Amino acid sequence: MRVICCLKQVPDTTEIKIDPVKGTLIREGVPSIMNPDDKAGLEVALQLKDKYGAEVVVLSMGPMQATEIIREAFAMGADRGILLSDFKFAGADTLATSSALAGAIRKLEPYDIIIMGRQAIDGDTAQVGPETAELLDLPQVSYVKSLEYKEDGTCLVTRKVEDRSYVLRVKTPVVLTVLGEEVEPRYMSVAGILKAFREMEVEIWSADKIDVDVTTLGLKGSPTQVKQSFGKQLKAAGHTYDNVSAAEGAKLILEALIDKNLL
Ligand SMILES: Cc1cc2nc3c(=O)[nH]c(=O)nc-3n(C[C@H](O)[C@H](O)[C@H](O)COP(=O)(O)OP(=O)(O)OC[C@H]3O[C@@H](n4cnc5c(N)ncnc54)[C@H](O)[C@@H]3O)c2cc1C
Repeated sequence: MRVICCLKQVPDTTEIKIDPVKGTLIREGVPSIMNPDDKAGLEVALQLKDKYGAEVVVLSMGPMQATEIIREAFAMGADRGILLSDFKFAGADTLATSSALAGAIRKLEPYDIIIMGRQAIDGDTAQVGPETAELLDLPQVSYVKSLEYKEDGTCLVTRKVEDRSYVLRVKTPVVLTVLGEEVEPRYMSVAGILKAFREMEVEIWSADKIDVDVTTLGLKGSPTQVKQSFGKQLKAAGHTYDNVSAAEGAKLILEALIDKNLL
């Protein structure tokens, strides 16, 4: 069994700063981490390795700095790591990102399960998993909290949406997007850390390696244009009334709504 796990390196969001002039994210000097949903997805993949001996291949697209999260994945137990890094990938929107990932995944055939995070904490679109599945013409299940692999090549997947869970049976190969809050990732082991840095190599793939039409990659392949970006605006402070009964409070709210011509 081969499981491919897509990992994105993201800025640690508690530390995010916005360029006040350009309105873009300042990535320089900001600590980076493995996207939390992706770490949960990696845990699900590693559980398949523990149970069925699956080969776990991790795949990321980004600058060379993203080798850090691939080594972290090695230290957790991943078997192979590939970084798509090339100026031709730069400036990608979600569709162009999915195009590059799908191209690399095609090169890794045969595979059984592709695991992605539900969403990245910086871009936050949750589009890359479903788009990649569409480009590969594969079935997809999003919002996955757990999965059970069956020997007949199907998976029983538990999908959690708001207050409900659904159990679906899907044929492999399949793309799953995993919910971070539902899975507790394992820690790196000391032996794993030593192996990750001393014995394992991150494979660096350029755009030429993945046989994808270059017009579908990077800025050229991105139909989305960011027109403007801005922070939240301050709201009016409002009024606070102390020691008011429910009936008086209701009257005050009513008067305020009438005053603003909302009633
Ligand atoms: C017009 C435009 C230009 C942009 N230019 C840039 C730019 O120059 N530089 C830049 O850094 N960003 C840029 N972005 C942001 C970039 O498009 C997104 O960060 C990226 O496409 C992933 O989208 P997301 O973060 O919403 O991921 P989501 O769709 O929320 O991610 C879902 C899952 O997909 C997988 N995934 C997503 N991205 C990757 C990846 N790179 N590698 C491996 N797995 C991944 C992960 O498993 C992740 O959990 C741009 C966006 C737009 C719209």
